[in-house]
Amino acid sequence: MAKGYQANKDHRDEISFFGKAIGKRAGFKCEWCGHKEDLRVWDYRPTAAPEMESLALLCLRCRSWAAGGKATGNELHDLRNALWSDVPAVAEGAARVLAQCREVWAREAIEESFIDDALKAELLK
Ligand SMILES: [Zn+2]
Repeated sequence: MAKGYQANKDHRDEISFFGKAIGKRAGFKCEWCGHKEDLRVWDYRPTAAPEMESLALLCLRCRSWAAGGKATGNELHDLRNALWSDVPAVAEGAARVLAQCREVWAREAIEESFIDDALKAELLK
């Protein structure tokens, strides 16, 4: 148990190491929706070593969606631009959230994006 705690702490230390660079990349705005409230670095692949590609600066609302929180179709419109990012944590992460909304525009937006084809197929099946 102590070991798990230490590993978890190291993981968080590694993420905070990237914090400044991620904030700069994001322009200190949420990389999914552009909001500026309560921004924090979010880890797209928590089981792997953190890297720029797997981290995104997200606002509180987007972090709650990333954790499985329900969003309305209207709110999710804010996420559309994120699909065009070349950062997987931004584009793929947003696509996963958009996929929970069954509306046609969301499916089309995922279809048109440049995210990984295998993930696209999985989200649109
Ligand atoms: Zn956001």
